[in-house]
Amino acid sequence: MQTTLSSQYNPKEIEEKWYRFWEEKGVFHSEPDATLKPYTIVIPPPNVTGVLHMGHALNNIIQDILIRWRRMQGYNTLWMPGTDHAGIATQNVVERELATKHIKREHLGRERFVEEVWKWKHQYGSTIINQLKKLGSSCDWARERFTMDDGLSAAVKETFVRLYEKGLIYKGKYMINWCPRCCTALADDEVEHEEHEGHLWHIKYPFRDAPHLYIVVATTRPETMLGDVAVAVNPNDERYKDMIGETLTLPIVGREMPIVADSFVDASFGTGAVKITPAHDPNDFEMGKRHNLTPVVIMQENGTMNEQAGEYAGFDRFECRNALVEELKLKKFIEMVVPHKHSVGHCYRCHTVIEPYISDQWFVKMRPLADAAIQASKNKSVTFFPERWEKVYLSWLENVRDWCISRQIWWGHRIPAWCCQDCGAITVSSGTPQTCSKCGSAKLKQDEDVLDTWFSSALWPFSTMGWPKETPELKHFYPTSTLVTDRGIIYFWVARMVMMGLEVMRNVPFSHVYIHGTILDEIGRKMSKSLGNGIDPLVMIDQYGADAVRFSITVLTTEGQDLKLSESKFEMGRNFTNKLWNAARFIMMNLKDENPEGIEITPADYQFDDRWILSRLNSTVRSCTVYLEQFKFNDAAMNVYEFMWHAFCDWYLEIVKARLYEPVSSRDKKTTQTILAQVFDQILHLLHPFVPFITEELWQNLMQTVSDNKINLRNDGRSEILVCDAWPVVNKQYENQAAEDTMSILQNIIRAVRNIRSKMNIKEKQTLNAVISLSGDGEYNLEEHAGLLKRMANLERLEIGMNLPKPNNAASEVIGQIQAFIPLEGIIDPAAEKDRQLKHLNQIENHLLIVKRKLDNKDFVARAPAHVVTMEQNREKELLEQIQKIKLILNDLG
Ligand SMILES: [Zn+2]
Ligand SMILES: [Zn+2]
Repeated sequence: MQTTLSSQYNPKEIEEKWYRFWEEKGVFHSEPDATLKPYTIVIPPPNVTGVLHMGHALNNIIQDILIRWRRMQGYNTLWMPGTDHAGIATQNVVERELATKHIKREHLGRERFVEEVWKWKHQYGSTIINQLKKLGSSCDWARERFTMDDGLSAAVKETFVRLYEKGLIYKGKYMINWCPRCCTALADDEVEHEEHEGHLWHIKYPFRDAPHLYIVVATTRPETMLGDVAVAVNPNDERYKDMIGETLTLPIVGREMPIVADSFVDASFGTGAVKITPAHDPNDFEMGKRHNLTPVVIMQENGTMNEQAGEYAGFDRFECRNALVEELKLKKFIEMVVPHKHSVGHCYRCHTVIEPYISDQWFVKMRPLADAAIQASKNKSVTFFPERWEKVYLSWLENVRDWCISRQIWWGHRIPAWCCQDCGAITVSSGTPQTCSKCGSAKLKQDEDVLDTWFSSALWPFSTMGWPKETPELKHFYPTSTLVTDRGIIYFWVARMVMMGLEVMRNVPFSHVYIHGTILDEIGRKMSKSLGNGIDPLVMIDQYGADAVRFSITVLTTEGQDLKLSESKFEMGRNFTNKLWNAARFIMMNLKDENPEGIEITPADYQFDDRWILSRLNSTVRSCTVYLEQFKFNDAAMNVYEFMWHAFCDWYLEIVKARLYEPVSSRDKKTTQTILAQVFDQILHLLHPFVPFITEELWQNLMQTVSDNKINLRNDGRSEILVCDAWPVVNKQYENQAAEDTMSILQNIIRAVRNIRSKMNIKEKQTLNAVISLSGDGEYNLEEHAGLLKRMANLERLEIGMNLPKPNNAASEVIGQIQAFIPLEGIIDPAAEKDRQLKHLNQIENHLLIVKRKLDNKDFVARAPAHVVTMEQNREKELLEQIQKIKLILNDLG
């Protein structure tokens, strides 16, 4: 594709153009190939309801950097994309949409509702995919998967059946968090806890055999007493020791129940005696199991009381609470009521108070799976970057409880289990069974529940590659290489993928886990809708270009630490892309010749400045590659940035202007052009993973210019697309420490002269004479670089030597081992300059007086905010330094 560089860098135009081009050429696609080394990343599938936020942007920028870099290194790269069906979240979105048309999910029925969700998915489900493309993500879109598509659904069923047959999946009674409004179980992290000003009701429970005596229990939820089956005390509690084993009568209900001893009871809380309601409290559920107590369920799924609640049957749970408390008061069962602050769980979706509820659920037995996952990290089959996250992963696995995988919603993978209507046996099958596996009856009913979304996400690294079929993809690309994710889902996702990979594939799903930081606002708060402090990545892309957004975010990623982001941070990326664009325009202009000659350039033609820039390039290639290997993305990017901006643009481009504008020979001009093109070519390669669009645009232009002007870059077999071209490698021949050392001295000399100009107020154009005195015991051979120095510092005469004396009436400056002297006679009027400097000195001294007065004022120091005092102290230091400098200048002026 031919391009000409417009004078203005217009990201929108080039980004759209190149993304389309890459997709048309299929450069992101790869096929299994046993002769190549694979490098694979599976995307953390965003929710199908998702809209790109800064967290996604960061996550995908990092993945794209890795994939683009490895692709250029020659790996057979696969970045597997896709989306997650996100069970409850998606069901809610569609429910809300239907509600605007006054349609309820229950009216439609399961089948039609699920159809509606699919319709929604087809209409809106690719929003986030298109946004990922805008960012430049080089996923293999031909392989895009969805956790509910046919292949992945087959993988889910197959895994369920296998785990069930091994006894790793079971059905059991369990205490779950239940939302009576949504009528579904909620995971622990789906419950939001809030402090609530409630009460502690102290209720008297009389002894059966001595009704005038009683034990007092305290509760925040009095209505649950209808389901009490015992009272527990701590076995070491002296107050109750003799009562253990006695029988109590439950007030109102009349149920007889024992006093049991359980060391779980905290003797110091309330009265030290607690009621046990196994069906309605998670701790009581466990205690009930320990003491073989049969739970009494008193509530229905919608939060109203059932027939076990006697006269309260049909009451809403909170109405029941009020009425029951009244009756208890009336019958003198209430000893006292005290205000009590406690935490109450709410449904994260509808904010209804959740109810601990006992129900039949499906579980994954975690211990054996978790032990294998612990082993995998201990033997380094899975390594975390930064390393500290391994501890988080391990501590969760070490304390893991069985995983409740059933959810009472409609959108998701329906559990492949059928209950026989005749004998009650359960048949689990990956297909649809026709008859009961126990009695042969054809009356089978499929379980109504669906699987937790994380169940299918846990299979993602192999289900996306076609498992349970033995596909070439699985064979070539599994296990994958690197997982890039957020610390928030180390338990939910990372650990579960490792468990499932080991169980199902007999191999870890990935070898490296890179955990990146969280994006925060400028002052360190999480970005959230309610705070309104979010920054929309799409708006930023629109304003600054995707490359600028990518670059800015990359340089903020310090080893997985959180990133403080504000809009102004994107200016850095924009300045950088602008700089790159302008450098390219300068280079292209200077590569053009009217009648280009094809001259074969060899290393013998290289000048000192060429040898220097090639050596610096070499070090940059080395360090950038090493940083990427260590997942130090900011260091990698900054390294190339520094090289491009400072070494290449500030120095090399300036130095070679003379060789381009007033060439000593056409061969030397060609050499300069060749090195310019070669170094810029390598810079574009190194920058490509970070800023893919602008580098492709500039590189295509460079290749065209180079070929039009018969410049030979001596690169064989290169690709015509930068995306697929080879990553730069270190070239030993270019290493030249001597050139680097010499150049750093030359740069110091030039800087010293420039500093003198600025402090003595001497114009750039004014030609000067300089005496450069070197100290130390180094071997300097700077004479041959006199031309370069004269040009860059605008010098007429130049004297260089060891430990030279300071000439009369000269300004001086010291940098490192060099001292520069500039005789001022005929350059400036020393008297006038002295006058100017004295005036300046006077101003500064006055300013210093004011600052000092403030700092001497004890009131000010005591009362002003600390940062204001610090500011004044810094100011004082600065002014003292300035005075010192001016005094040196005055000294030079005699
Ligand atoms: Zn709810
Ligand atoms: Zn049966």
